[in-house]
Amino acid sequence: MSTLPNDSDYSFAVNLMQHLVVPTFVLDHEGRVLIWNKACERLTGIPASEVLGTKEHWRGFYDSPRPCLADLVVQNRVTEMAALYVSHDDANAQAFGVHAENWCVMPRLGSQLYLAIDAGPIYDDHGKLLAVVETLRDMSSHKRAQTELERMASHDGLTGVVNRRGFDDKLQQEWSRASREALPLALIMLDVDHFKRFNDSYGHQAGDECLKQIATTLTQALLRPFDVVARYGGEEFALILPSIDADGASKVAQRILDAVAALGIPHSGAEDGQHVTVSLGVAAATPHSGMSHEQLIQEADRALYHAKHTGRNRAVLHSSLPDRA
Ligand code: GH3
Ligand code: MG
Ligand code: MG
Repeated sequence: MSTLPNDSDYSFAVNLMQHLVVPTFVLDHEGRVLIWNKACERLTGIPASEVLGTKEHWRGFYDSPRPCLADLVVQNRVTEMAALYVSHDDANAQAFGVHAENWCVMPRLGSQLYLAIDAGPIYDDHGKLLAVVETLRDMSSHKRAQTELERMASHDGLTGVVNRRGFDDKLQQEWSRASREALPLALIMLDVDHFKRFNDSYGHQAGDECLKQIATTLTQALLRPFDVVARYGGEEFALILPSIDADGASKVAQRILDAVAALGIPHSGAEDGQHVTVSLGVAAATPHSGMSHEQLIQEADRALYHAKHTGRNRAVLHSSLPDRA
């Protein structure tokens, strides 16, 4: 049972909380639901009568039992927040409570919501915990907009693959990881052959379609989820292949040549006079002191240059160049 004073001040406070526009519930010092306000009923689809006096409040948010933020405060387990929430802040947990954010299943609504959650303790004059108040804010549309903005900042609008900025970030990350774990890292630079002629013959829109098809083909040609396809610029793409050496990368490059040939996009100005082809420069390295990821890009670029100047529609491995530098 509650240890809150049961007088008219208390019922006024409860009444206020019941009609507060902010979805709110209150747990007593044992973690039982003391208050489940109207806005919380609307947010969760669960009437107060179902949860009052119980510890079943998780049902409003999740489809299997787990602690809510208020439970962590009641049970003095706020250190577990990191494992239970996508984002959290417990800088002043003792005095002011905690803040966390999470995608919640919302079983009764049937659609996920991203909730910003605050849970604050209420103590009596002797510092004994009386109750914990949890307030909730639906941040779903804000979160979706933010996620979309982040995606737009790192992805190419035309082809949907990672853009130059995303490529720079990803390569740096993978280079650091390869360096730490003493693993190889491969990079393939790919450029569409005679693409200016393609635009001139078939129009810019057909050119755009061709780039989209090639991006899709590249994505499909990479078998592992952590490989990265990026639009490096214009009609040039870059592939980051973690944990793959020169041999493995050459095989991927050959697979790409075959897959682009299989697309069979007509191109009368192509090298073979029939279909769109691509040229690839392949480089791989196990990062060692003194070598930078910029050097890997230069090597792949050099190999691509050779592919262009030795007939296009081919892959050239940097380490196979006679005067590699
Ligand atoms: P090479 O075989 O030597 O690579 O010849 P190329 O004609 O492909 O190379 P060049 O650099 O002369 O021309 C690249 C062309 O790619 C010119 C440019 O208009 C076109 N391009 C770049 N970005 C896009 C795009 O987003 N859409 C379309 N349709 N064309 C693009
Ligand atoms: Mg180019
Ligand atoms: Mg080109």
